[in-house]
Amino acid sequence: PGGVTLIQSGKVLTCTGLPYEPFQFEKDGKVVGFDVDLVDLVAKKLNATQEVIDTPFEGIQSGVDLNSGKCDLAAAGMTIDDTRKENFDFSDPYFDATQVLVGKKGAGLTGLDKLQGKKLGVQNGTTGAKYAKEKAPDVEQVVFEDLGLLLSGLETGAVDAAINDNGVVYDWVNKHADYEVGTEFATGEQYGIGVKKGNTALLKVINETIAETRASGQYDTIYEKWFGK
Ligand code: GLN
Repeated sequence: PGGVTLIQSGKVLTCTGLPYEPFQFEKDGKVVGFDVDLVDLVAKKLNATQEVIDTPFEGIQSGVDLNSGKCDLAAAGMTIDDTRKENFDFSDPYFDATQVLVGKKGAGLTGLDKLQGKKLGVQNGTTGAKYAKEKAPDVEQVVFEDLGLLLSGLETGAVDAAINDNGVVYDWVNKHADYEVGTEFATGEQYGIGVKKGNTALLKVINETIAETRASGQYDTIYEKWFGK
């Protein structure tokens, strides 16, 4: 439909990096989340079903996975960013994000300046890692491959703090009462869905889906399902 060619007919192959709750994570043996619901609507428009491929975020954000034909699209809570735009194309924005610093309750992590002599956990290839490196080059970073490993590192004390996107960190803090967000950095990020450079037919269907779900109120329904009211 609409001149869209899928890698496997009848399937939308989505690259994502698990876990990234509540955008994409496993629950009862199924991959679910905000991004998964949104791409299900894209697939529906194409009379196809979505198949999620879990792969490290680094290969997603560098464009390697899209350009090698591993997936039709990437939906990974991924920030639209100029470097990434050189390597693949992004849909219109579908979600706003900032970076936050999380640590043990009472640790007083009110800014990156509080991390002198401490270890900051970051997730490989993310805007959070980049932001902390730019703003606080002296702070020692410990790099984790995914969000699950990053937050485990915080719990075991391998790191004193972690930086990541507000949506996932607040979700985690709500379930881990001993931890708190110490500060939020207004990085003004927006998530987009990635496609291989020049795949305008698929991009068009994705953008139409985003616009239609916003207009119909379906966006709000999905939002409330994963983030509450
Ligand atoms: N939004 C962040 C980025 O694009 C983190 C994404 C992720 O880890 N899935 O770098």
